[in-house]
Amino acid sequence: PLTTGIVGLPNVGKSTLFNAITQAGAESANYPFCTIDPNVGVVDVPDERLERLAEIVNPQRVMPTSFQFTDIAGLVKGASKGEGLGNQFLSHIREVDAIIHVVRCFEDDNITHVSGKINPVSDMETINLELVLADLETVERRLERLHRQKKSGDTQAIKEYTLLTQLRDALAEGQPARGVDLSEEDKGLIRSLNLLTMKKMLYAANVAEEEVATPDENPLVHQVIEQAEKEGAEVVTISAQLEAEIVELEGEERDQFLADLGLASSGLDRLVAAAYKLLGLITYFTAGEKEVRAWTIREGTRAPQAAGVIHSDFERGFIRAEVVAYDHLLEAGSMAQARERGLLRSEGKDYVVHDGDVVHFRFNV
Ligand code: GDP
Repeated sequence: PLTTGIVGLPNVGKSTLFNAITQAGAESANYPFCTIDPNVGVVDVPDERLERLAEIVNPQRVMPTSFQFTDIAGLVKGASKGEGLGNQFLSHIREVDAIIHVVRCFEDDNITHVSGKINPVSDMETINLELVLADLETVERRLERLHRQKKSGDTQAIKEYTLLTQLRDALAEGQPARGVDLSEEDKGLIRSLNLLTMKKMLYAANVAEEEVATPDENPLVHQVIEQAEKEGAEVVTISAQLEAEIVELEGEERDQFLADLGLASSGLDRLVAAAYKLLGLITYFTAGEKEVRAWTIREGTRAPQAAGVIHSDFERGFIRAEVVAYDHLLEAGSMAQARERGLLRSEGKDYVVHDGDVVHFRFNV
């Protein structure tokens, strides 16, 4: 599954947030496997459409889809030079699909800040610089290899060399690779380098509990937003401390708690939603008497590959998909009615699954 890594300087609230995530996963109890790796936390993706579907289908159980986070603690200034646990952490970042960068916007005299004072923009720059430097090293190493191949007139090597020279210059100026204008072909050429600063990133501004409903009043949050805008990145405001309290609650108690704080959803839910969007993920549903269930796919996924998320046999033996859009099913009121009204379509292997599609796969075993 796709995973999003949580990074940030020490003492910004990463562990607190990650503990809230693992706690949330443990509560949901759908993910017994997540206890295997202590650095991985799996949470439900909240989706109100599931409840509506359950009302129509009356299944035995309802299963939300999940989202995975990885805790990448210990990224410090100098990591690219091997400081702290340096390279080991950078290699963990290499394995994730997107990055959530936690920055500290809460004041608390009892909790020291690594550089002495709270300055989220400087924190953002510190971490980003480490990632840029690590990429610079990767690119330079690759350039050395290419330099030799290029001499033998290898056209592919020449192409890559030119591209990497451009990337190196940008990185050397402190610019992340994702900020460089690259064609799809260019991206393909450098994919195997798995550059850290090519990964999508969003910021989580960690504010004090009492500020979570009114983040606009915190000037540090403004600074984070301003900086993120320059980078074209999103910002989600959370209070890690508060999230830890929210996950202790369930159902109505939880809703009430959030309402009292003036919040529509928990920070964790908003974080999942933002990461989902960042990764270009969508949800489709299966709805049978046994279970109504949500599944995650990348936007643009075709029916057989979408079926493969459920089981590889479904993909291998794919015949066709019976599809009804969520809105249409709701309108019809039942699967039978949807069929009667011709809202249920039969789609083949080239069909691109849409967000909210309710799908029944036909396959050979
Ligand atoms: P990490 O080093 O980034 O993993 O940071 P931790 O999660 O260990 O947090 C460092 C300290 O900050 C801990 O004592 C937390 O309790 C505290 N902390 C985290 N989030 C908040 C917050 O929103 N408000 C306050 N006041 N303290 C927080």
